[in-house]
Amino acid sequence: MSFFKDKHILVTGGTSGIGLACAEHFLKLGGKVIIVGRTERTWLEGPLPAYTGASFIRADLADRQHVGRLFEKIAGSGEGLDIAVNNAGMQGLSFTAIDDYPLSVWDDVIALNLSAVFHCMKHELALITATSKVGSIVNIASVAGLRASFSGGAAYTASKHGLVGLTRATALEHARTGIRINCVCPGLVRTPMSSRELGAELENHGWVHPMGRLCRPEEIAEAVAWLCSPGASFITGSTLPVDGGLMAG
Ligand code: NAP
Repeated sequence: MSFFKDKHILVTGGTSGIGLACAEHFLKLGGKVIIVGRTERTWLEGPLPAYTGASFIRADLADRQHVGRLFEKIAGSGEGLDIAVNNAGMQGLSFTAIDDYPLSVWDDVIALNLSAVFHCMKHELALITATSKVGSIVNIASVAGLRASFSGGAAYTASKHGLVGLTRATALEHARTGIRINCVCPGLVRTPMSSRELGAELENHGWVHPMGRLCRPEEIAEAVAWLCSPGASFITGSTLPVDGGLMAG
């Protein structure tokens, strides 16, 4: 029987790209998955409503009040929480140096990619503790959390470095509580976000990875699920690049 059967799992940004792949992977393994996004239509038009274990809660995670209401709903369901994947994120402006980078975009990127995860983690840790005291949180950072991304812009790189730091600090705080906290650092993944960023050029960008191809969202989902599984029972505070060898060079 799958370890994830009937586990209660939250995936933010689960209507598209990496989050969608993570949510579907956990659903196939028998999990009960709450998917969060801003747009109900995206969720309805995707494949996830077909799974009996899937449910959707609409929330803009950049808005602290939405985050509060989201976790009131989850707590109010009485079902608890075992696993959380903090995946929702945005790119901000690419190919724009700090000299020209608008403060408003900086604020938006930090609010979603970093502050929203801080707010969500406070609730997630409390819920996991109240449920079974044993669980796992995975934050989706980026290779831009480990080294500067020339194309990504300073806000994205800073937010993902911050997310790596948030993961490490909270993992230490919880090292003895039974809740493991890790992050995955994807390279360039074929998703709507990267497609918006690079357009038709995306398919020619496999060269950025030593393996010579783009990453598939399902490959991130496999890594996330493994980090949440008993196979990773002695792993906390880690940053796992899933990047076709990019960080090795
Ligand atoms: P994506 O296809 O654009 O999906 C983003 C998801 O986040 C969607 O479900 C979106 O749904 C949700 N979302 C966006 N803003 C939100 C908000 N304010 N509140 C709630 N949900 C929100 O992006 P992706 O490429 O899968 O990226 C997912 C994560 O992986 C991000 O953190 C990204 O930085 C990271 N990452 C991606 C790549 C890559 O190459 N794609 C590489 C490294 C890291 P709604 O629009 O309906 O809200």
